[in-house]
Amino acid sequence: MRRLPEKPKLAVWKFASCDGCQLSLLDCEDELLAVAGKVEIAHFAEASRAVSPGPYDLSLVEGSITTATDAERIQKIRRESKYLVTIGACATAGGIQALRNFKDVREFAAIVYAHPDYIDALADSTPIANHVRVDFELRGCPVNKRQLLEVISAFLAGRKPNTPPHAVCQECKRRGLVCVMVAHGTPCLGPVTQAGCGAICPAYGRGCYGCFGPQETPNTHAFAEWCSARLGIGDPDLVRAFRTYNAAAEPFRKESVTREH
Ligand code: SF4
Ligand code: SF4
Repeated sequence: MRRLPEKPKLAVWKFASCDGCQLSLLDCEDELLAVAGKVEIAHFAEASRAVSPGPYDLSLVEGSITTATDAERIQKIRRESKYLVTIGACATAGGIQALRNFKDVREFAAIVYAHPDYIDALADSTPIANHVRVDFELRGCPVNKRQLLEVISAFLAGRKPNTPPHAVCQECKRRGLVCVMVAHGTPCLGPVTQAGCGAICPAYGRGCYGCFGPQETPNTHAFAEWCSARLGIGDPDLVRAFRTYNAAAEPFRKESVTREH
């Protein structure tokens, strides 16, 4: 990875998303001022309507591809970007809106909209990496702001970002938290989910919802079998557990489809 120029151009792009990951960047506050001093912010819709023309040194992309127009737009952004980093569950796994991938999106549109014929959406919600080359994927729903700053700093310095690929359980144990599954029989996706959130949910006595998607080598099948045998969780609840923020991430998708009757 090459170090970026003295004052690189940073652009933040939005596709199908809730803007929560862009807000994580705004939430950096003091650190954001330091970042803003190091880069030229060429586009960042949550902060300003201004758009400077490309090329861009670093593009951060939030959101998934859900329309033909967006499938074309991401190609143009890729062509204009030296490095392209996807941020959040929508951009890296299709997001909550990828629940449509298991059904017929036209049926949803018919229920929700008075004029569904105005809706021109693709059948599936897909991650950015299904469409263009991606230089780094940062997981989370939303992304963790410390990790986001680490990724931006790494690209500015021309080094590999340091984000852990291991499971939430490791963060949970490092914090000395009581395991909600062992102590209370509460379902928790921590063993198969990537770290990064700091084990927030177990810290409040809740099971992990899998916001950061599958960890590097998740054994989702063994995990689901264990939950079924030891906690008595039925297949419908296991399907729901895997189909939340990262329903279309392959290990979660595959296990949920296996358990769908
Ligand atoms: S990953 Fe979550 S927080 Fe980020 S844009 Fe998508 S829905 Fe919003
Ligand atoms: S509470 Fe969840 S994340 Fe923490 S150790 Fe138990 S299973 Fe892992």
